[in-house]
Amino acid sequence: MKINHCTNQLFNNYNIYSTKQNNNIRKNNRHTSPTFKASASEIERMLARKGITCDFGGNSFVADCVKRTVDVFESLFGRSSLPREVNYKYIGNPAEEGLAQYWAYYDRVDINAADSCFNNKQALQNAMYKHKKVLGMPTWLSSSHYLHPVIHEFGHGAHFHNIEKNNNEYAWDWMSNKIHNAVGQLITKFKLSKYANYNLKEFMAERISKDICTKLNYNDKYTGYQKDVDYSHIFSNKWNCRYSTPQAYLDYYTQQIWNGDMDEAENAAGRIDVFLKEIERESYKSTRKQSNFWGIIDEVAGMITGQAKWLDKINRANKNKL
Ligand SMILES: [Zn+2]
Repeated sequence: MKINHCTNQLFNNYNIYSTKQNNNIRKNNRHTSPTFKASASEIERMLARKGITCDFGGNSFVADCVKRTVDVFESLFGRSSLPREVNYKYIGNPAEEGLAQYWAYYDRVDINAADSCFNNKQALQNAMYKHKKVLGMPTWLSSSHYLHPVIHEFGHGAHFHNIEKNNNEYAWDWMSNKIHNAVGQLITKFKLSKYANYNLKEFMAERISKDICTKLNYNDKYTGYQKDVDYSHIFSNKWNCRYSTPQAYLDYYTQQIWNGDMDEAENAAGRIDVFLKEIERESYKSTRKQSNFWGIIDEVAGMITGQAKWLDKINRANKNKL
């Protein structure tokens, strides 16, 4: 109820005050923030034309971050991946509520005005640098790009829309579940992020954030391959590679989570468990002197391609369907 009330309030404010706000911000902008060409209300109107209702509370920096994120998601996942509403507003103590949130029920992203890091690019960049890499360990977040918090929440939105598209939206609640241990081990191996281990929703959002943020240029345009974020086909894209590698297993699992296929995700987690146990067994048998468990993974994985026969079977079945 509380959230519903809030949503209505914001909608009214937007209608009543948008013109007045616009004039004020334009005046201020000329003197204080020449970096950003468009004012918050100009961007609000621009996004409204794409079907996204926004209230940035006059914060042109946040509006610009959202606009850049919308451009990236629209080009990579299509307009249907975008949330219906984005607001910059007070959510509560960032230590408890985080920097931003995505509400699947309302299809809405809230950016927390309680944290001063959203005041300007430098402040946000500094906040992200706090998650700097500790050698050999996954950081809390999967990238330290200043757009990470916004891209992460849009990632939740794109994920939710995709499982809806596959008629698997009932899987959304299931995704609050803890990550399977074996999958967690793989995430650690790829140093995705500690937060990715929190639950399946965060796993997906952190994977998307990493894949996008590490390939943004100086102007925040995505410079990677589209197929690298085509999670519906990411596993078959890599099919001709060494599909018995940890990367292939992680991609296969990612594909199931992205589509909301709970049965296949559970199945994949079980297979990952078998795969890792086999590696452990082989590494124990190995007479070579290796300093750590993950150090020989790729080498051993090449020796146990038989483990990946189940994937062969699925691939053949899929080919027959075509
Ligand atoms: Zn999240």
